Amino acid sequence: MALVVQKYGGTSVGSIERIRAVAERVVETRKQGNSVVVVLSAMSGETDRLINLAHQISNNPKERELDMLMATGEQVSIALLAMAIHELGHEAKSLTGHQVKIITNSDHTKAKILAIESKNILQELDGGKIIIVAGFQGIDDRGEITTLGRGGSDLSGVALAASLRADVCEIYTDVDGVFTADPNIVPEAAKISKISYDEMLELAGLGAKVLQTRSVEYAKKYDVNIHVRSSFRKEEGTLVTGEDSEMESVQVRGVTCSKNEAKITILGVPDKPGIAAGIFSIISRENIMVDMIIQNISEQGITDISFTVPKNESEKAIKVIKRISNELGIKDIISDDKIAKLSVVGLGMRSHTGIASKMFDALAKVGINILMISTSEIAISCAIEAKYSELGVRVLHETFELGK
Ligand code: ADP
Ligand code: ASP
Ligand code: MG
Repeated sequence: MALVVQKYGGTSVGSIERIRAVAERVVETRKQGNSVVVVLSAMSGETDRLINLAHQISNNPKERELDMLMATGEQVSIALLAMAIHELGHEAKSLTGHQVKIITNSDHTKAKILAIESKNILQELDGGKIIIVAGFQGIDDRGEITTLGRGGSDLSGVALAASLRADVCEIYTDVDGVFTADPNIVPEAAKISKISYDEMLELAGLGAKVLQTRSVEYAKKYDVNIHVRSSFRKEEGTLVTGEDSEMESVQVRGVTCSKNEAKITILGVPDKPGIAAGIFSIISRENIMVDMIIQNISEQGITDISFTVPKNESEKAIKVIKRISNELGIKDIISDDKIAKLSVVGLGMRSHTGIASKMFDALAKVGINILMISTSEIAISCAIEAKYSELGVRVLHETFELGK
């Protein structure tokens, strides 16, 4: 008998019919003789709706209260699924993060999982029940409700699979697996049958929201194989797993795009030692992650510096730089949040050259201007104007011949 963890995302439980369909799939797995732990997201659109309610009350709601509010979404879906399973004549019990005891730190809205008490769940499983756990939420050591960042039910699924030493960790979603590009943007995108943790980490971090980045980090750390697959269809999906020798032969595994960043440009900076250090140390002290950085050629001892930060932190970044602008002799600060980061990812980049030039050439041919460039061992990213995002993804997908 295997222990199976199945996580279903928002669209997969987005309506009563969908919840009934999930109940049937779960019961089928149970009937095959497996122990089943289900992790659910809130019904699709629910978390956004709750956040929107909060923002109608306050521009700056306290994060503790936001967590209190957002965590309710998952409590609804787990209870409904338990009822749907009961209707099919099977035993099931829903549990919140608090009831399981998914212990996190106190970093509200982006808490880290510290430990999971698997004892309760294992006891219930022994009694034959299907256990349904609320994704996305936990509690800190003072009993406060926390959430794990957007898309965090993926992390709940992976962490439960690790802690219960599950045989299988399945992430059910609204597409058939991980594709060479978002299939909703590139219809010709091909399903990837097997992908390494590192490639998946880069793809997720650079915008492919099919898995939450932190869930992939966790899976890599605890060696959890993830099977990403469709909740609508039976076919096998994508296995996210450790690297094997074949994987390096693929130069470009996928193309992705993120619109979550804003570009900040500091104009008229004196070109002398210590200025960049001054700017970036004050930003890092505020815990703002800087991604791409570019410094223009200086003219008469004056230069411009541009960099990108997460869109929701750009106002804060500008505010802190303004504080030191007189001291550093900065003339002006401008920001642009209509940018996107377009990336290609592949393990083969470690050993192949020419991918960057092919990428830049393809973008130039369709008139997409590159604003900034950054690279890692297995990814190349270009900041471009946001209006060219979809075009850019399609062009690169075709250039690297990733289609079916
Ligand atoms: P869930 O609600 O199940 O967690 P998400 O909306 O978080 O689902 O993630 C699934 C979505 O991820 C798909 O609908 C798809 O548009 C998007 N996506 C982006 N990049 C990719 C990719 N490379 N492969 C598959 N899906 C992708
Ligand atoms: N409901 C949460 C969100 O929308 C968590 C998740 O769906 O994974 O971000
Ligand atoms: Mg998701």
